[in-house]
Amino acid sequence: MATDLNETISQDSNSVQNERIDFDAWADHVLEGGQLTREQALQILETDDDQLLHLIAAAGRLRTKYFGKTVQLYFLMNAKSGLCPEDCHYCSQSKVSDAPVPKYNILKRDKLLDAARVAKERGAKTYCLVISARGPNEREMAAVESIVPEIKEKYDLDVCACLGLLDRQQADRLRACGVDRVNHNLNTGEEYYGEICTTHTYADRVQTLRNVRDAGMEMCSGGIIGMGESLGDIVSMAFDLKDLGVQSIPLNFLNSIDGTPLEGKTDLSPQDCLRALAMFRFVNPTRELRISGGREIHLRTLQPLGLYVANSVFVGDYLTTQGQAPDEDYQMVKDLGFEVTTSVGE
Ligand code: SF4
Repeated sequence: MATDLNETISQDSNSVQNERIDFDAWADHVLEGGQLTREQALQILETDDDQLLHLIAAAGRLRTKYFGKTVQLYFLMNAKSGLCPEDCHYCSQSKVSDAPVPKYNILKRDKLLDAARVAKERGAKTYCLVISARGPNEREMAAVESIVPEIKEKYDLDVCACLGLLDRQQADRLRACGVDRVNHNLNTGEEYYGEICTTHTYADRVQTLRNVRDAGMEMCSGGIIGMGESLGDIVSMAFDLKDLGVQSIPLNFLNSIDGTPLEGKTDLSPQDCLRALAMFRFVNPTRELRISGGREIHLRTLQPLGLYVANSVFVGDYLTTQGQAPDEDYQMVKDLGFEVTTSVGE
């Protein structure tokens, strides 16, 4: 059973009184090719609110070094909704969720193509094609193999496929049809994984990422903060992602949806979200870091500060929840003096 996040965070932060940390010196160390220790990463998550701007400025130096002022936009398409046999406790589409989400099998070609058109119009670099499943069946594999070349030829978008667990053969087939990248999130730390899912394991997820990597595709993998995990679990996930060499890290903040086992379970502050983003930037300085689901409800008016650390956001809606209007995102990027890019940062 997941513990209450509020309790976990306040226990952790009460037990350690922060000394003032020279985050600039830590940034210098990382910019010179050094790495933070796990203890330092934990200290970032325990940073007092009154040191937060100092932390963001230091993490922002890493962002600027590797990504300049660029912001990459991603567009999500829920190509198959509901109907999943897995029991991920945070997910509105799982078999243990009573949330009233749309339920449909993989969409037809026209709808998938139309979504690619919208992604292009919105300035997205990458079209994320997502299905709810333990892993793709043959019909779903064939549908993806057929649509991906068309999306790429017609709209010149990168395609990221999120299809669940993949064996090596499936990964090879995705690579062959033109998929650039596969998303498969680790979601939380290894030790905590059994608390949020019992139908597959953390090791299953890691193996899928290895299959993707060995097939020659990029790995997109991140997690969800606010599921009752300890701060150490978050650190553990950040280091596992580093060790796996993932190229892109989406960081979600739990949107605890009514009808899921994690209903009402989260109580993140905007500052908690910013500390987590900063820690991921320090541990994975050169990797794309995307502020993902839950940013509107947890970061709220502090979303722009998040972009001083992260370099990417989803534009539009999430899988089963609404996102901020795209125009507000474009305005935020402009107000920050940043620019939307469709190429990879320096
Ligand atoms: S496998 Fe994916 S779609 Fe299925 S319950 Fe887990 S997160 Fe949701």
